[in-house]
Amino acid sequence: MKKKIYIIEDNEKNLELFVAVLATIPNLEILTSATGRDGLNLIYSSNPDIILLDIQLPDISGTDICKQLRKDKKFNKTPIIAVTSFAMKGDKERILESGFNDYISKPLLIKNFREKIQNLLRI
Ligand SMILES: [Mg+2]
Repeated sequence: MKKKIYIIEDNEKNLELFVAVLATIPNLEILTSATGRDGLNLIYSSNPDIILLDIQLPDISGTDICKQLRKDKKFNKTPIIAVTSFAMKGDKERILESGFNDYISKPLLIKNFREKIQNLLRI
């Protein structure tokens, strides 16, 4: 069965890279959006299996989106991965406290990223 991953990322280059890497995983449908509001609306209507969420977005922060989704029964168990360019001491704890399952840092380590997503798809 096909699984769905939803990516919300406002940086075009990063988004292209995510899509290029994820396109190598079989049976995965990739949906994307560049703004938080757009992304939230589409998440609510499309029921993704995994969500990849940029922390720094132009309208709503990835952290706020994650908190909002966690309040919803439909999404309180969906794997949500934060994409962050700031991975300083304490950031990981703060990200996980916001309800994210995990995080990946930019610049992207392609092999780690692909493995992380494949592991989550097996659950
Ligand atoms: Mg961003």
